[in-house]
Amino acid sequence: MGFSTSLQGQSSHEALLARQDAEIKLLETMRRCLTIKVKSDREYATTISSLTMQGKKIERNEDLVGSLVVQSWRDIMDSIDQTAKLIKQQADSIEAIVVEHITTLYSERRRARKIYQEEQTWLNNQFQQLTDDVARKKLEYQKNLEMYKLMRSRFEEHYVKSGRVGRKLDEVREKYQKACRKLHLTHNEYVLLLGAVTECEHDLRTCYLPSLLHRQQAIHQEFITSWKTILQDIVKYSDFTTDKFQEIHRRMQKAVDSVKPVEEYRDFIGKHRTRPASPIRFIFDENLVDDTSGKLLPNKLTVDNLTIDWLRNRLTELETSLKATQQNRQNPQYPSENNSDSKISILDYSREREELRLRCQEKRLQRQVDVIRAALNELGCEELPLGYDLSMESSFTDSPSISKKNTVADIGLFTLRRNQRFMTIFRSPFKSLPLINDTKDGTIRSSSEGPTSKADNTLQVAFRGISHLTTNQKGNGNGDLMEEEWFHGVLPREEVVRLLVTEGDFLVRETTRNDECQIVLSVCWDGHKHFIVQTTPEGHYRFEGPTFPSIQELIRHQWLSGLPVTSRSGAILKTPILRERWELNNDDVILLEKIGRGNFGDVYKAQLKTCKTEVAVKTCKVTLPDEQKRKFLQEGRILKQYDHPNIVKLIGICVQKQPIMIVMELVPGGSLLTYLRKNASTITQQEQLRMCKDAAAGMRYLESKYCIHRDLAARNCLVGYESIVKISDFGMSREEEEYIVSDGMKQIPIKWTAPEALNFGKYTSLCDVWSYGILMWEIFSKGGNPYSGMSNSQAREKIDAGYRMPAPENTPDEIYRLMLRCWEYEPEKRPHFDQIFTVVETLSQAYL
Ligand code: ADP
Repeated sequence: MGFSTSLQGQSSHEALLARQDAEIKLLETMRRCLTIKVKSDREYATTISSLTMQGKKIERNEDLVGSLVVQSWRDIMDSIDQTAKLIKQQADSIEAIVVEHITTLYSERRRARKIYQEEQTWLNNQFQQLTDDVARKKLEYQKNLEMYKLMRSRFEEHYVKSGRVGRKLDEVREKYQKACRKLHLTHNEYVLLLGAVTECEHDLRTCYLPSLLHRQQAIHQEFITSWKTILQDIVKYSDFTTDKFQEIHRRMQKAVDSVKPVEEYRDFIGKHRTRPASPIRFIFDENLVDDTSGKLLPNKLTVDNLTIDWLRNRLTELETSLKATQQNRQNPQYPSENNSDSKISILDYSREREELRLRCQEKRLQRQVDVIRAALNELGCEELPLGYDLSMESSFTDSPSISKKNTVADIGLFTLRRNQRFMTIFRSPFKSLPLINDTKDGTIRSSSEGPTSKADNTLQVAFRGISHLTTNQKGNGNGDLMEEEWFHGVLPREEVVRLLVTEGDFLVRETTRNDECQIVLSVCWDGHKHFIVQTTPEGHYRFEGPTFPSIQELIRHQWLSGLPVTSRSGAILKTPILRERWELNNDDVILLEKIGRGNFGDVYKAQLKTCKTEVAVKTCKVTLPDEQKRKFLQEGRILKQYDHPNIVKLIGICVQKQPIMIVMELVPGGSLLTYLRKNASTITQQEQLRMCKDAAAGMRYLESKYCIHRDLAARNCLVGYESIVKISDFGMSREEEEYIVSDGMKQIPIKWTAPEALNFGKYTSLCDVWSYGILMWEIFSKGGNPYSGMSNSQAREKIDAGYRMPAPENTPDEIYRLMLRCWEYEPEKRPHFDQIFTVVETLSQAYL
């Protein structure tokens, strides 16, 4: 059963035309709907992408640095962004492939309908023509038959009348014969025509029409095949459960799993660590008892006739309160916080809080009871002689060393911090240090009274420039300022902020504004405040208050007077923050010869003045903008925490003046890349394995410190004695488990960088593992260019498509296998550096 046998009739023909019209209409509808879908998918993707941008703005919030929740949120935002991109890609595909296909099918469908209709019309015309021909012949036949009959009757009539002869009879006979011939001819033609027409009609009906319909059926089915492909493509490009989506979903899940409440505040605590709160000292003001002729003594209860009753009553009162408090503590009746809306049960800690409060209250009462009891006991509760005093010293002071009379009022606890370690000293700011007197001209000078205690000697260390200035007041403060340990030179503001952690911490530094050098006092006070030291026309220095001939004296005044630097800021100087061990004087370093050129400036071989040690010094061009100088110092900040034979060592940074410099151990063989190329003909396989091992050891150490190098390559490794390899160039490094790049991917070493870092800006130590694979390749190709002959983008595309570099000549199989593992597309499948180290170490021993 098909078109050819079942759809021959006229009504079938009309139905087939109507069906085609409906299909064409359906194609139009589909095209319209899909166009709307593409548009709305794109709008959706755009909205999602921009909301993820919004969502990621939190990154800039300094206070959340190191938060795992933030990291997880950023990952989720990235993943949602990726989802939006995929949705957009699918919308693009629907437009480019599906809508296009529908358009083509639509016009073909219309063409096919037209051809079908034309053929049907022609066929109907043919049938009509045959019928017309027969009808025409039949009419002619009837006419000739009438004529014949007429002529015959005329002839018969004459024949009888004329007696069978005569001219008229001949005439009639002739006409009769003619009509008879014509009739016979027409008869024959009619017979022939009927045969031919019957044959033709049979052909058209039984061959032509079925074949036309058969062809139509094939065309229709072919269309349906195309249509099915279109529907299949719609399904394909609307599938949000593909591997790519699932991968994104897995990544989001992983981001959530990485949130660990126990670790969330680890970095925060590290960054904001402060000394434990120092006690608030409540000290008896001795001025109060000046006028009492010795009857009242500081820190002693006066038990005499005037006070004994009051003391006893007080004792009873206190004992009652104490008892009540103790009972309360034993039988607590805590306010219920169960009806709170909070879903976090830990917030309901009223029991503990109440318990603590009661315990404090109990202690306070107990202490007072004890003191009064001790005083009364001592007198046996008898009538007291007038003016009898009991000392409270031992009850109210923790440290016996400061409980001696006369020292209590003067001595405050004071700390100086250096290299994050604390040393505690006592200070006596107004008695032991040089007195400060106002002179008539309004400036303030130090008196010649020298330091008197051990504590003051320590202070002298911190302020050693001052004593010098006291004897040589002509000296311009800045020359000696360099000597001051709290003077940090051109240390950038970020570093300064990092050093000042506790309220009252301060230091002095130099900055340049509009080409003018300014001295700045930076203080940790309600955030961080930076005060520019003002210069008077006489060349003296001041903030808001009095002027001083040197900056040191100005700072000392601010510190010792305890007055706010400006009344608006209220900032008070408490603890001078001394230079870190790393901060060297620029003059401590003698540059000898240029040995290299870095991104920020030249690299020199140099000598330390003090110990004559040879060092390498990276300089930062004076002309670079501050932002670049900060980036330059980033390397120093990272390196100073590390100590490993395969990591280049930091000796110090010089920020006292320009050019700022980073001083490092001198690694005499220079860059590994140059070394490999220079010594290509002599390097042995064993040496190559050892280089890989050294680099793996260094990287294993960095991974354990959560440091991501981000630029591991032979050009950034150095070669030392006995060709030891050291990892260097930490300019791009980050101390994070994972680092997301958000400020574009400028200057990325594409051929060394892992795909997830290139595609999503997501860096982990496993990206360093990828780069380590390239480094191994460089080592075994003796300084070859990776992906030689390919541009960066070609290499990137090929890697995404699965291409990996072949092994360089003479690479041991195990090493090449390791390279391939380092280049696994999925970072989780790559080995960590401790595994890499084990493999390389085992191999290098096998090759010994
Ligand atoms: P940057 O990080 O600014 O690009 P590099 O660390 O790459 O600078 O140093 C540039 C060049 O200086 C290196 O290729 C190397 O030759 C030389 N160099 C850098 N540091 C040292 C060092 N500690 N010992 C010896 N040479 C060094």
